[in-house]
Amino acid sequence: MEYRSQFVAACRLHLCYAAKDAKSSKNFRLNGWRALLVNWRDRLVPARAIPGNVNSMLAYTTRSYAAQTASSKLSPFGIARREPAPTDVVMEILFCGVCHSDLHQVRNEWHNTVYPCVPGHEIVGRVTKIGPDVTKFKEGDLTAVGCMVDSCRTCSSCRQGLEQYCTSYPTFTYNGEDKFLGGQTFGGYSDSIVVDEAFVLRIPEGLDPAAAAPLLCAGITTYSPLRHWKVGPGQKVGIVGLGGLGHMGVKFARAFGAHVVLFTTSPGKIPDGLRLGADEVVVSKNEDEMKKHTLSFDFLLDAVSADHDINAYLSLLKLDGTLTLVGAPEKPLPVAAFNLLLPRRRFAGSGIGGIAETQEMLDFCAEHGIASDIEMINIQQINEAYDRLLKGDVKYRFVIDMASLKSEAAA
Ligand code: NAP
Ligand code: ZN
Ligand code: ZN
Repeated sequence: MEYRSQFVAACRLHLCYAAKDAKSSKNFRLNGWRALLVNWRDRLVPARAIPGNVNSMLAYTTRSYAAQTASSKLSPFGIARREPAPTDVVMEILFCGVCHSDLHQVRNEWHNTVYPCVPGHEIVGRVTKIGPDVTKFKEGDLTAVGCMVDSCRTCSSCRQGLEQYCTSYPTFTYNGEDKFLGGQTFGGYSDSIVVDEAFVLRIPEGLDPAAAAPLLCAGITTYSPLRHWKVGPGQKVGIVGLGGLGHMGVKFARAFGAHVVLFTTSPGKIPDGLRLGADEVVVSKNEDEMKKHTLSFDFLLDAVSADHDINAYLSLLKLDGTLTLVGAPEKPLPVAAFNLLLPRRRFAGSGIGGIAETQEMLDFCAEHGIASDIEMINIQQINEAYDRLLKGDVKYRFVIDMASLKSEAAA
């Protein structure tokens, strides 16, 4: 019991986090002991074993909001972060966007969630500490982390700057495998994060840090396919779904010079669609309106989070047109063969973007005055925000002001 209280005291002091043995003092090392996580409301939560702890990393605890099961609400939880390795950057998180993927993951809609789950991959923060070999960043820099925190860095995809398609699978910011501490990675609904500098982005001057946060996922996920399929002047381009991704898709397609048509199920979003840059808005529930666009699109970007009729959109593509899916609904989308065969059409997919392209996108946004339209929330409103997200009731991305997590801890 003495060991237990010593351990808890260490956690409370935010020193480090698992003890080598009952008598070890000061700097406890993670050394293969079954660890305990402690939250700051004095409730001990047994965590998964920390297997091996490859590098005997020192770690500290930080506050977060986590889901403990697929049906539980997000609530305060203490997590471990490693002390910085030589090329690591420690960031105090200032803002974190709320992506629909967070909701899919928390509710186990992709059937792979490891609990406890701390979501958040649209992270903007300030560097508070760097490892001795860090060259790209210094203390005080405004930086960002998106959906990945590492990859193998040697496969053909990684060598092309396509780390998101790493053949060994990238380490995702949350629900990935934590190669340092063991267990799963924890995301940005937290006070701080520790990431290798190769996966840290620079927020260019002139970008509002809160409105820049959603660029780290919603931004790059729409920028990358629009660039890859060379969307530009003279093309008719459709964006399907005006949510976090969709509203960035409209802004980028417009900035790239295409004729932009927004498809929405929500008639109330028509004025916003036009304001955000669409030349036309089609209410997709209206079959007559849809038919008017048959065989006319060069490119369609589908950013819908739920089950919907993909064939209704495929039939809008002209010969050699491409529909790229970025939405990731829980259930498969059936495709009618003849919708692809006649005329020859392409049905494609795209996942986030590589690190270099993400930096390019951030720089592009700063240069062209592009950012996300956001609704700022406190972390305590996150469960209500998820309910609203499911109803499409957000204009157009929730961003958590992480100061609210600090003030909760102080209260
Ligand atoms: P979001 O903000 O909730 O937006 C989704 C939009 O889809 C809604 O605003 C709504 O737009 C439309 N929609 C919702 N339910 C619908 C339904 N039943 N039928 C037709 N339209 C519907 O979500 P998000 O954060 O933009 O994410 C969108 C999807 O992309 C999610 O599945 C997410 O997991 C996925 N995602 C993928 C990647 C990737 O790398 N490919 C990255 C990030 C996110 P309207 O009201 O305008 O119809
Ligand atoms: Zn996302
Ligand atoms: Zn790789």
